[in-house]
Amino acid sequence: MSKIVTRFPPSPTGHLHIGGARTALFNWLYARHNQGTFILRIEDTDTERSTREMTDSILEAMDWLGLDWDEGPYFQSRRFALYQEQIEALLQSGRAYYCRCTPEEVEAMRQEARQKGEKPKYNGRCRDLDLGPGPGRVVRLKAPLSGQTVFQDLIKGANAVDNRELDDFILRRADNTPTYNLAVVVDDALMGITCILRGDDHISNTPKQVMLYQALGFALPDFGHVPMILGPDKKRLSKRHGAMSVLEYREQGYLPEALINYLVRLGWSHGDQELFEPKELVDKFSLNNLGKSACIFNLEKLDWVNSQHIKNKQPAELAGALLSRLHKKGLPEIDRGYAEKIVPLLQPRVRTLEQLAEQATFFALPDQDLDYDRELLENYFTVEIKGYLQELLAELKRLDEFSQSGLEDLVAGFLKERGIKFKLLAQPIRIALTGKKASPGLFETMEVLGRERVTNRLSRVLEMLDANRISSGKVGDSYGI
Ligand code: GLU
Repeated sequence: MSKIVTRFPPSPTGHLHIGGARTALFNWLYARHNQGTFILRIEDTDTERSTREMTDSILEAMDWLGLDWDEGPYFQSRRFALYQEQIEALLQSGRAYYCRCTPEEVEAMRQEARQKGEKPKYNGRCRDLDLGPGPGRVVRLKAPLSGQTVFQDLIKGANAVDNRELDDFILRRADNTPTYNLAVVVDDALMGITCILRGDDHISNTPKQVMLYQALGFALPDFGHVPMILGPDKKRLSKRHGAMSVLEYREQGYLPEALINYLVRLGWSHGDQELFEPKELVDKFSLNNLGKSACIFNLEKLDWVNSQHIKNKQPAELAGALLSRLHKKGLPEIDRGYAEKIVPLLQPRVRTLEQLAEQATFFALPDQDLDYDRELLENYFTVEIKGYLQELLAELKRLDEFSQSGLEDLVAGFLKERGIKFKLLAQPIRIALTGKKASPGLFETMEVLGRERVTNRLSRVLEMLDANRISSGKVGDSYGI
């Protein structure tokens, strides 16, 4: 088998979106699995809508996803001479011709065809006029008038179009710019692309491209058209269904390997396996397992996949992300060692890195900045509990080994001596240390917070309660700082 060469050719008119990323991924995986070449090509022939900013954003998203390319990025805007050369060759060989019909005239022809119940198309008026170049003239392909254009789709099977349904489509516009179909075929042929995997929104272009390969005398690549990604309402995925851009998912705290894992399952399967690492995907990827049916985008499943990848990481791998997200939230810096201890407590509890940072906030906040909800203090801190917490505080200050097991032993003894249940103190302690009713296990949280934070926070709550003169278990008005 000859070397596999695939490509991803985004138009830089928007950010890399979920659908584009999946296309890039399939092409990347196919090339990597076969030790082939993956080419990145920026299709910026539409100079009005293409921007440098979007090109940079696409490259950044590819980079973040780990979809590295072997060649490129090539820019179509710098390859116009190559397209002109091929158009000239077609004109020379009589496989293309100049057309002087105005857009209004062409529209009238399309209208006429519609009225006759036919497909709207250019009627070939200039086909045999042998016109030369001139202002306002386009170049059209002299498409076959009869027969069929056939190709074998890797996913959808045999595909045949009656040539009478297609017209002499434009290769070069009046402003001298090449059309998408011309540029894409010239590039794919000259870059030696052996396999084109793309969304099935392009399948109607493929017969035209096949005609062009034939007219230019290039060998046909393989084509595979993957079903579009749909929203849960079965309509084509759009902003209405949530974030579209890959970088937005980065922002929201998805891991690149989780997004890759999720995207690959939108159209590809390997038995009933759901979780994959990128390396494993390279090993297992095969075109045979690409599915024919539409794929539904499901945010809940993406969240689940992300949560699993978060769980499987070493804490040190997530500490950097935690530090930078806390920093973005305006929290004072904490040291890396502390972050690495916080991460494992939260890994099983979060679905995104953003949730990780949110749930780590109480660890990072300086003791004096922890806020308490008035109602929580009112409900949980009776005079009796306050008394116990004061005694416990004194013991915590003296405890030799401030570890989870040391703390468990201390508290067990404390409860036993007084004949009280853990239930009585657990929530008040949790609230004093975290400001919340839910947190990771109390003793592991205490160990990670460390003696200083634990004792400071407990003392502070007790002082706040004192300052508000507790009577019958209720506290006064303000608990702020
Ligand atoms: N630039 C086209 C797009 O972004 C490429 C289509 C193709 O793969 O041929 O849709």
